[in-house]
Parts: sequence; structure tokens; C-alpha cells
Amino acid sequence: MFYQQEFDVIVVGGGHAGTEAAMASARMGANTLLLTHNIETIGQMSCNPAIGGIGKGHLVKEIDALGGAMGLATDQAGIQFRTLNSSKGPAVRATRAQADRTLYRQAIRKMVEAQPNLTLFQQSCDDLIVENDQVTGVVTQMGLKFRAKSVVLTVGTFLGGTIHIGLENYRGGRAGDPPSVALAERLRALPFRVDRLKTGTPARLDARSLDFSKMQAQPGDDPVPVVSFMGSRDMHPQQIPCYITHTNERTHEIIRGGLDRSPMFTGVIEGVGPRYCPSIEDKITRFADKTSHQIFVEPEGLNSMEVYPNGISTSLPFDVQMALVRSINGFENAHIVRPGYAIEYDFFDPRDLKQTLETKYIRGLFFAGQINGTTGYEEAGAQGLVAGANAALQVQQKDPMVLRRDQAYMGVLIDDLATMGTKEPYRMFTSRAEYRLLLREDNADMRLTALGREIGLVDDARWASFNRKMEAVETEQQRLRGQWIHPEHSAAASLNEILKNPVSREHSLEELIRRPEMTYRKLMEIEAFGPGIDDPIAAEQVEIQIKYAGYIARQMDEIAKAQRHENTLLPDDFDYSKISGLSNEVVAKLTEARPETIGKASRISGITPAAISLLLVYLKKHG
Ligand code: FAD
Repeated sequence: MFYQQEFDVIVVGGGHAGTEAAMASARMGANTLLLTHNIETIGQMSCNPAIGGIGKGHLVKEIDALGGAMGLATDQAGIQFRTLNSSKGPAVRATRAQADRTLYRQAIRKMVEAQPNLTLFQQSCDDLIVENDQVTGVVTQMGLKFRAKSVVLTVGTFLGGTIHIGLENYRGGRAGDPPSVALAERLRALPFRVDRLKTGTPARLDARSLDFSKMQAQPGDDPVPVVSFMGSRDMHPQQIPCYITHTNERTHEIIRGGLDRSPMFTGVIEGVGPRYCPSIEDKITRFADKTSHQIFVEPEGLNSMEVYPNGISTSLPFDVQMALVRSINGFENAHIVRPGYAIEYDFFDPRDLKQTLETKYIRGLFFAGQINGTTGYEEAGAQGLVAGANAALQVQQKDPMVLRRDQAYMGVLIDDLATMGTKEPYRMFTSRAEYRLLLREDNADMRLTALGREIGLVDDARWASFNRKMEAVETEQQRLRGQWIHPEHSAAASLNEILKNPVSREHSLEELIRRPEMTYRKLMEIEAFGPGIDDPIAAEQVEIQIKYAGYIARQMDEIAKAQRHENTLLPDDFDYSKISGLSNEVVAKLTEARPETIGKASRISGITPAAISLLLVYLKKHG
């Protein structure tokens, strides 16, 4: 039976990719259906209750700058906020928040339900309707058919999911949820390249059985950071500390003793796991000389007695989990509320996707999130927003939204996936971006909000707030450029108390802020120059733009140079072995990847700038 109404866009899956996709599409005016297994699990955090961190925090700010939900939900659910790398440069500074799992889910659900143009339906999607290589709808478990012009699949770890605890295993999408078996089979029958990945999670502990006096408390930052450009401290719930403890040699001995019953070490699990988020059994094997590993003891919520011991993800048998947990300082009497486990699932090679996240073989079908081989809520949310926006744009017959690598971490993420694919769960790091200095958390709105506004992702309130901030920054910059101080100025003495070298000639306030020992706030505290702008976010922007102007200009130059060759085409049948000077390894990599442009070739791992120069010389000579 066909549902009576036809939709523009159907999003399958109510996780982090799905909710951003559905809300983005609906914000842009597309009539959207969010079809998910269980409405109660919309916005559920499958693993650790935390959002942000290095690279990931950047993605959250970008999602937010484009009107997405993740940043605001984090402000409403965060129970401990920190700015990581706060002593380092602004490019690598990142916000991380411990979230109350229930509050986070509630915040996302509330936004989904308040979103005009968005309809919810609870059922499993078991099949796709495809006609002449164009998706035209989906079929649910009870045989109900929904018609749509575009479909976005965001089904996470659920496709053919198998849960492993020791040598026991069973089918599941994540603990407590069913897998997607029929849909996995349907997708495997389509011409996409498919493989298996795995990820794992630690046992959850009952806080009442732990001795926190033996652990080190880790409070959040004061003042408490805010994530969303539309957020505020008033949104935050009560703030509470996390704790730190460590594994020890006894823990490692117990783990080694259980490896013969580990699904990973006995070959039962075939999927590759996340290198940067390894299980504890992986860590003690790979770093055999380390006698201890840190564990962050993270509360799951204000009204929950569950604790997430971050750092001991495991799929060892339950008896080994019990023993290893109880060998840890402060965990001697721990009660495990939920066992740790690993999950293996299907993912589809993202090289079969366009930069819009539309599949190359089925028109109107988009993939976003863990299904593309990524790991993490932030990576999923970012892809969801891009896929949802592009699905809506396609329906509206408008140009797609493709973010460049010099424009957004979202651009880096999708370009990496679509160009290089991935052999292990992909997560974001700042080191993946060539133009880090431009892609900061603090300027995500300056990079993306106008673009979001243009295509209908950004509402009036966010747009007005963005413009107010931009105006405040611009006016203040002009004042700092135009106000001068000379050595006889009445404020020179106060200034010289801060400066290493006293003012000996006329200086603009802008020049003074450029000095390493000076900050915008310090300068504004001198009566003759202050009080400046009170909005701390706008004030930070004024300072960063002045202090880093030189570096930023240099990076813009590099981008201009790279862009000159970015779109230079490489013939499909190009014979790389003809280029003298290229190593066999480089020839093999280029031959396998067959990049369409010089830009794409330069981003294949192991392809050096020297190799690109040889390629360019050859093309010039023979092209
Ligand atoms: P999910 O959040 O998984 O959401 C998928 C949604 O689709 C769910 O709502 C589901 O009900 C729905 N769905 C699935 N199939 C269907 C269907 N056929 N019909 C209708 N609805 C469907 N991330 C890290 O960064 N680090 C980690 O260490 C880490 N460990 C993890 C360990 C485990 C055990 C699990 C399960 C996940 C882990 N994650 C980790 C990953 C993190 O949870 C995901 O990256 C993130 O949730 C992916 O978001 P998503 O939106 O793609 O999918």
C-alpha cells in the first residue's frame, strides 16, 4: 500500500546524521519525512556521552553555523564543558562537552518536533523503490510504501549488525536495538562496493559502587564555554566534574589472560576497528611497554547513576570484563550495569559517492554518517546536514552545495571520503586540514552562515545575530586602526607596564594588539582605550583577526596557488608509469585511485608535492 502523501525527501534513521539531514531538508522548505526504527531513540548517543573535541568540535561549530541542531542541543545538555588546547593557537583550540545523555536526546527530539515541513514515522525501512536508476521511495517492514524524489540513508551501525561479547555473538544494530538485515541485503544487491567495519564500547558502571575519593576530579572550565553561536550559559544545566583513574599492570595481566577468548584476537571479528579509539585489549597489545592507561570516568547524566569509563572499550568475555574493571583504582567493588561489546556492520565505499553525498549509481539516493565508513556523532551530523541540504536542492532543481577544503572541515571530511575512501573508521583531526589556520572554531559562522542563509538553512534570528556580531567586529576594527597613541600620551605609562618595549613612536591600537604580550582585553582595561565590545565572542574575533593577520594572508596565498591547478584534469586512461621520476608506489597509488584532477591527486595519502610537480611538468610537455 502507498502512503497517501508524496514527500520531497525521505531520511531513513533518526541518529545524528539523520536528524541533521531531516531538519536541514525541512528548513530549506522541502517536504520531508524522517522514517526511523524507534521515535524514542531519536538523537540517541550510542557510545560515549560527549560532543566535540579536537577536529570534532570544529565540525559541531560548522553544523551550527549552517543552522544545525548539534551545537544547541549540546548547550542544553552539557554537564561539563572544556576548551581543549586552550594554551595553543586558535586553529587547534576545540570545545568539548560531556553531555547528559537523556537531556541531549530530549533537546534533539524537541527541535525535530518543532521543525515545520518535517513529518515523523516509526517503522523499519526494509527496501528501496528504484526505477530506471532513480530512487522513488522506500518500503517499510509492514509493507507500507512511501514515495519521494530523494532518499537519504543514515542507518549507522545497523546494517547487518553483529554484536560480540567474547566468543558469543548475536545480531543487533547496537545494544538494545534490532539490526537492519533486509535493507542490508537490498543494498548489497546494488552495485556499491561494500565491506565490514567494527567499533566497540566499554562496560557501563554503577556510580554507587565506585570510590571516587581514589580518583582525581576533573572540573570543567570556568567561565564555562558555550558551543552554539546562538547559545548562552543560561541554557546549560547544572555542571558536575568528571574523574580520572588508570589501568595498572594487574589489569593488563587480566586482559592478556583473556585474549584467547577475544573475538578480535581469535579472528571472529573481521571488520577493521577505529585506530584512534582502540579497545583496551588493542592498546595493551600495541603499546606493550606501557604499564598504565588513563581512564576518564564520565557521568552519563544528572539523573543517572550510570558512569562511562572512557578508555576501556572492550569486547572481551563478561568474566574478563568484570575482573579487569575491578582491578582498577576506585573500581574495586564496581557493578557493571551494561557489558561492553563490539559491533560489526556493513559500510559502503564512499568513493562511490559524489561530493554532494549522492550515490554515483542511483540518482536521488544519498548516504550519510557511519554507513560511509566514518565514526563519531560529529562526523555523522556534518554529513547528514550536507546530504539533507543537497537532497532538498536537487528536488528544488538548484545548484548543489559542495564545501571546499579551504572553506570547512565538512569539505575536508567529504572530499577525503569521496576521493580516498577509507579502510578503517574515519574520524576527523585538525591535521587532516591543509588550511587549519582558516578553519577555526571561532570563525565557522564567518565561513558558512552567509552560504547557509543563501540556500535557506539559516533562519532570521541566526542571520540577525550573525550580522550584529559582524558589524560589532568591523566597527571595532576600524576604531583600533584609527586610534593612535604617542609616547607623550597620558595613557602611555599604563601601557608601558604591559609592553616589553615601551612605546617610542606613534602606534595604532591595532599595532599594539599585535604584540605577543598584549591582548585586546588588557588594552581595553586601560581607561583611555576601553571598554571595547562586551560580547566576548566578538572581542575574541577582533583579537584573532589582528594577531594572526600575517599567517592568514600567507595561507590565503597558498590556497590561491593550489587552486590554479586544483581543477586541472587528468585523463581517465593516463599512464602514470610513463612519468620518469615517480616511485613505483606513487605510480601504483595513482593508477588505483585514478584521480579526476590534480587537486584530487594531491590529496591521496603518500602523493607528495614533488610527485605533483613531476605530473604537472609532464602534462605541460605532453598535454
Ligand atoms: P546512528 O547514530 O547509529 O543512527 C542510526 C539510526 O538509524 C538509528 O536511529 C536507527 O534506529 C536508525 N535505523 C537503522 N536502520 C534503520 C532502518 N532500516 N529503518 C529505519 N531506521 C533505521 N563513535 C566514536 O566517535 N567513537 C567511538 O568509540 C564509538 N564507539 C561506538 C561503539 C558502539 C558500540 C557503537 C554502536 C557506536 C560507536 N560510535 C563511536 C559511533 C557513533 O555512535 C556513531 O558514529 C554515530 O552514532 C553515527 O551516527 P549515524 O547517524 O550515522 O548513526
